[in-house]
Amino acid sequence: MARQAKVVAEIAVAALTQRQAKAEHARLAEEVARHDRLYYQQDAPEISDAAYDALRGRLSGIEARFPELRTPESPTTTVGAAPARGFAKVRHGLPMLSLDNAFSEQDIADFVNRVRRFLARETDIADGTPIALVCEPKIDGLSLSIRYENGELVRAATRGDGSEGEDVTANLRTLADVPKKLKGRAPERLDVRGEVYMSRAEFLKLNERQAAAGDKVFANPRNSAAGSLRQLDPAITASRPLAFFAYAWGEAEPRLWKTQFEFLERLKGWGFKVNPEAKLARTLEEALAVYRDIGLRRARLPYDIDGIVYKVDRVDWQETLGFVSRSPRWAIAHKFPAERAQTILRGIAVQVGRTGALTPVADLEPVTVGGVVVSRATLHNADEIERLDVRPGDTVEIQRAGDVIPQVLRFVPEMRPPGAPPWRFPEKCPCELKTPVVREEDGVVRRCSGGLECPFQQVERLRYFVSRNAFDIEGLGGTHIENFWRDGLLKTPADLFRLKDKARELREREGWGEQSVRNLFEAIESRRSIALDRFINALGIPMIGESTAKALAREYGDADTWLAQMLQARDERKANDIPTKKEKAAVEIGPAYGRLCNVTDIGVTTADKIVTFFAEGHNVGIIRELIAEVEVQPFRAQRVASNSPFAGKTMVFTGTLASMSREEAEAKAESLGAKVTGSVSKKTDFVVVGADAGSKAKKAADLGVKTLTEDEWLQMSGS
Ligand SMILES: [Zn+2]
Repeated sequence: MARQAKVVAEIAVAALTQRQAKAEHARLAEEVARHDRLYYQQDAPEISDAAYDALRGRLSGIEARFPELRTPESPTTTVGAAPARGFAKVRHGLPMLSLDNAFSEQDIADFVNRVRRFLARETDIADGTPIALVCEPKIDGLSLSIRYENGELVRAATRGDGSEGEDVTANLRTLADVPKKLKGRAPERLDVRGEVYMSRAEFLKLNERQAAAGDKVFANPRNSAAGSLRQLDPAITASRPLAFFAYAWGEAEPRLWKTQFEFLERLKGWGFKVNPEAKLARTLEEALAVYRDIGLRRARLPYDIDGIVYKVDRVDWQETLGFVSRSPRWAIAHKFPAERAQTILRGIAVQVGRTGALTPVADLEPVTVGGVVVSRATLHNADEIERLDVRPGDTVEIQRAGDVIPQVLRFVPEMRPPGAPPWRFPEKCPCELKTPVVREEDGVVRRCSGGLECPFQQVERLRYFVSRNAFDIEGLGGTHIENFWRDGLLKTPADLFRLKDKARELREREGWGEQSVRNLFEAIESRRSIALDRFINALGIPMIGESTAKALAREYGDADTWLAQMLQARDERKANDIPTKKEKAAVEIGPAYGRLCNVTDIGVTTADKIVTFFAEGHNVGIIRELIAEVEVQPFRAQRVASNSPFAGKTMVFTGTLASMSREEAEAKAESLGAKVTGSVSKKTDFVVVGADAGSKAKKAADLGVKTLTEDEWLQMSGS
């Protein structure tokens, strides 16, 4: 289903129907809220900032087109996440808002024009009046608001959800960059806002210390800054190398400055550190020049920044411009594109996947790229390494884009150590069996030939087995699986359902207690009954994913029939070990093999991979053991309306439907007794053609298969 959901996600916002938009909005809102919690409360983001911005951007886009979907709970109307437990809550006198993001110079030109138009409407500024902007690097840290009364620090709070944050006063007092008492003349009441951060060098040192002590290692400087400040024990915060840049105010009584730039000067006078890169630009061109200049030097700055913030300099104009929902109209963040960095390739490791495929991975000297410490990058396959010609010891350029997995772009020729030998793909699996590596027919993929005997494959298959699209067992992450496997608690999927015999052993494990063990058992027990298609998918048979598993379930109906048929097909193939590329010839090999080849989406190539899996006695044993432990539900036969024009017909959907998602349409067709397939052949009865349909519509026309427009489909299906 994930594949189909993704199709929906790719529909442009402008093309979404009301129904699609509602479903998509709910999904995105939940997703964004989850990432907010991970980021703000747990300091453990799972996705890159760029990926987060993309999610959030799409959510805003949908709300702009369907305003009725915007609720007070929507993550677009809040900032961050509510305070975590453990700290007292502080309500900000003035909310701490967040900035709109821009990615191109054109976006900034548009911003300046909007500002100018707004001011022209509300004030008497002349046409073409230059708008002076203060340009400040956007520090990737943790935003804070610090309250001073009569020049004395009285309270400090994190941003939290924008209106309410956490009281971190005691912790903040330990920072050398934050004056406890303001120097010179200061407002009676003043909120100073700024960013707590950690320099890259200090961050790397801290992580080394943490690793040496066996403590948590932070993903990036931002998380280490947040994690260090939000310690319940201020003594720990004091031991961490935190720094602070001040850049804004909240409440200020009286306000003694007329411009943002003047305010920055005041901050210095009071004893704060202000970012030395901050510049006053009199025109748009000057502002963009600052962006370009800092962009070039960005990797050499001692701290992470992810863009430049432009603020309208004049405070009276800021006040006129005001706010719109969660962001000020007078400021914008100009983000930097994907960051690149150079580092040393220490070596190339080989990872073993669940089907034994070997993936080379670059082992890098840790380096910060786009705010994240990178020490590994994918090298895809042997051909890619040959194309890049990277060799251990090389200095390589890496890039981290919207994806969280960084990429190796090239090596730097002038930095190559003399005599560095080219890398050779290992001929033996890195597992303890040291089984030979075989190259697949297509030449790209190389596999460990150890099959299920290979420890790496065992662990990866177990991980897949418990994953969301398979048995979906909550609370059993990849690391648990690896540890359980290593300690002999879990060797095959069936062991999972026998774990409860080892309750005592589990409870004594570090990090597990009475409650978590009970929760795990509950999660496992709730999956003891499982649908046949999920069951088949979970086995991790090569070439069988969700949709093929479903097709097999539909064809064979129940687990026993399916297994018996697979074994028979295997025996037939073994007795007729002749190469065949034709489905027609497959029937001659034997009835069971022929039947398998004719299942939707399976052909001779896939069928051969499947029977090879069953030729391994170990695999069959594992399945039998599992069937003894769980109750596999027979494939639910759809109640078919016999008068439906689609009953017993084979259908293909292509292109985008305006009235329903692909997933909904396919489910509807199946409920009407149709068999939905992915590709058009002579056996197809109907092809429903939506917008932007590609080759499938053409193939239908070529083969003379009946096509239906969306309207015809809606009418015939009674939707
Ligand atoms: Zn192996």
